[in-house]
Amino acid sequence: MDKLRAKIRDIPDFPKPGILFRDITPLVKDPAALRFTIHQLIHPFVGEDITAVAGMEARGFIFGALAAWELGVGFVPLRKPGKLPYNVQTIDYDLEYGSARLEVHLDALGVGDRVLMVDDLLATGGTARASCSLVESLGAEVAACAFVVELDALEGRQALHGRRVHSLLHY
Ligand code: AMP
Repeated sequence: MDKLRAKIRDIPDFPKPGILFRDITPLVKDPAALRFTIHQLIHPFVGEDITAVAGMEARGFIFGALAAWELGVGFVPLRKPGKLPYNVQTIDYDLEYGSARLEVHLDALGVGDRVLMVDDLLATGGTARASCSLVESLGAEVAACAFVVELDALEGRQALHGRRVHSLLHY
């Protein structure tokens, strides 16, 4: 895990002053670190009846698609507004300043699906909470949420109200 942590680059004041951005691009560039990360991400869920992985735009696509590949299931993108071409289900949620929206194709998931949610990082939990609600609004069940990085001080885990959360690195 220390080797993994060394592959996360800290960028102060990005994208705005006061934010310490945890940049995962050095990690995904390193084949051994990337492989290790994906294996650790899915480890608790191997052998469970996960039927799909859902990933949040954009960095959740990188880890989510690889996690889906390793679990032998399909991948469902949760996208920012206006990107998906077919009929969508939408959720609006609050950010620290302002609001945001995520969309999923209406036929992407349904009753009987057990979904692993994947993103690069859990901060306040607003994105993950909304993503879980979006997936559940299609009738699917959220099995767990998995993150490469969790920012403990922002208490995103509490925002997920007792959902199963698996994070590889804590800051
Ligand atoms: P939140 O909804 O507050 O949990 O924020 C999570 C989303 O914002 C994830 O998709 C992250 O990619 C991104 N994010 C939030 N804070 C950071 C940070 N300090 N460094 C990198 N990404 C972040």
